[in-house]
Amino acid sequence: MRKLYLFTVLIISVQTAVAGYLDGFHAEKVSSHVYVIHGPLELPNENNEGFMNNPAFVITDDGVVVIDPGSSVHTGNMLLREIRKVTELPVIAVFDTHVHGDHWLGNDAIQRNYPDADIYAHHKTISMIDSGEGKSWLELMHSMTKGATDGTHIVNAEEALNGGEALSIGGHQFQVIHHGQAHTVTDIMILHMKDNVLFTGDNVSNKRLIRMADASFKGNIEIIEAAKNLKPAIVVPGHGKTGGAELLDNYHTYLSTLYSNVSKYFDEDLSDFEMKPKIHVELTNYHDWSGYEDELGKHISGAYLEIEAAAF
Ligand SMILES: [Zn+2]
Repeated sequence: MRKLYLFTVLIISVQTAVAGYLDGFHAEKVSSHVYVIHGPLELPNENNEGFMNNPAFVITDDGVVVIDPGSSVHTGNMLLREIRKVTELPVIAVFDTHVHGDHWLGNDAIQRNYPDADIYAHHKTISMIDSGEGKSWLELMHSMTKGATDGTHIVNAEEALNGGEALSIGGHQFQVIHHGQAHTVTDIMILHMKDNVLFTGDNVSNKRLIRMADASFKGNIEIIEAAKNLKPAIVVPGHGKTGGAELLDNYHTYLSTLYSNVSKYFDEDLSDFEMKPKIHVELTNYHDWSGYEDELGKHISGAYLEIEAAAF
C-alpha cells in the first residue's frame, strides 16, 4: 500500500513537472472554424520542451483537421487537450507543412489517440523523414531540450502531396500550395477556403527571424507573392502571432530587402561581413524581431551563396 502511494506521488509529481510549461498555452479562435495555439518565440530548450511553433486546428462538419502538431508527443497531447475543450469530434486529418521537426514530431500524439487520422505532407517531407531527417530531428530536439521531448516516436505522414491539390475533408475545402524550394524543398501552404485562412508554414514568420539554412531566398520571396495572390483574410504564420495579409507584406519586405541588398553589394564586390552593417541599417523595422541578432549574419551568408551560385 505504502509502495503504491509513493509510486503514485512520484507519477503525479513527474507529470506536473513535465506538463507545467505546456499547461500555460491555450487555443485562440481566429475565425469561425479555426483555432491556433501560438507557441513561444525562443529556440527549443529544457524549459519550453522544444515547443516553438503554431499548432492549429480546423473544426469541420465531421471532425478536426490539425495543421502542424508541434515538436513532441507532449506538444501534440497539449494540442489534443485544447481541441477537446471545443469539440468532441475526432481528429480526422493532419497536415505537416514541412520537414522541420518542431512542426511534425507531435504526429505521434495524434496517431496514438486517433489512429485512423490521415496524415498529409509533401512527398519530399515523407521521403526525407524516412531517409534520416526524422531521426536527426528527434535527436536534435532531445539534445536541445536536455531530454524534455523524450517519449516521442517518429510518426511520418502517409498521404503524399505534390501541391496543387484541392482536398475535401469533413465537408471543408483545403487547397494545397507548393512552390519548389522556398523555406525548404518540402513546404506546403494550406488554404482553408470556407474561412479564407492561409497556413503558411515557415514560409512566413511574424516578429521572429527563423533558420533559413535549407531555404531558397528567391523561392521564399516567390511563394509569398503566390500567397498574396490568394488574398487570404487571415494568415497563420509558422512562428509568431496570427494576423491579416499584412503579415505576408512584412515578411516579404524583410526577405526582399535582404536579398536585393546582398545582390547589390555582391555586385560591388563586398564580402558578406562588409555588407552586414549596411544591410542592418536597411532593416530598422526588424531590429526588435526575436532571433534578429542570431540570424541576420546567417541570412546574409545564405543569400550571398545563393546569389554567387546564380552568377555562375
Ligand atoms: Zn522550419
